[in-house]
Amino acid sequence: MAGSLLLDFGIGRRRNASHMSERREAEEALRRALVRACHRLAELGLTQGTSGNVSVRRDGGLLITASGAPLGALAEDDVVAMREDGSWRGAARPSTEWRLHRDLLAARPEIGAVVHTHSTYATALSCLRSPIPAFHYMVAIAGGTDIPCATYATFGTEALSQAALRALEGRMACLLANHGVVALGRDLEEAVARAHEVEILAKQYAVVRSVGAPVLLDEAEMAEVLRRFADYGRRGRDEEGGRPR
Ligand SMILES: [Zn+2]
Repeated sequence: MAGSLLLDFGIGRRRNASHMSERREAEEALRRALVRACHRLAELGLTQGTSGNVSVRRDGGLLITASGAPLGALAEDDVVAMREDGSWRGAARPSTEWRLHRDLLAARPEIGAVVHTHSTYATALSCLRSPIPAFHYMVAIAGGTDIPCATYATFGTEALSQAALRALEGRMACLLANHGVVALGRDLEEAVARAHEVEILAKQYAVVRSVGAPVLLDEAEMAEVLRRFADYGRRGRDEEGGRPR
């Protein structure tokens, strides 16, 4: 009896240890993916110096880039594991915009990653404090008929987080007035791709505004575009064997 109990405890401990190491491995993989996403943002020219921050959902919270870390040279040590209540451990401090990331991930269970940058054209347009309208059908990449602009609030504040949450209702990207841009994704890859696409659209819109007033696509046309985007998303998932793209 005693022998079998000891045996059971032994197996239990081993199972527990293997579960712990699986969790650790999964978190390490997520950490590496976050570093790769930051390097990709720098390669795409979406971040310069220490501007911009990125987060990804993890079990019980999020992984987020450290405060003051240049994304182009980010190392695994510059990734901070944060719990849902905003607490963290370790030497590196989380990005000053941790609240924005934490609140978005908490409010939007369907998303897995948040990218925030000061990419040049999106940031320039954010100073107009108006949305990027449907000058091109690709604005549907933000999930609606325009790319909205959140009201102004000081960086790092709860007010900024609330403003972004409001602007992102039913959307996957928005400008932050006189500040930059936020892009969401089901995973890091998708959030980075969306941040890139928003910057391309912002550049195109800035160019067209400099030469004239663009003819905008109407609500009916954008409804058709959004329907096709939804169809395309579903097909993409089926072709990938269930993996969302
Ligand atoms: Zn910022």
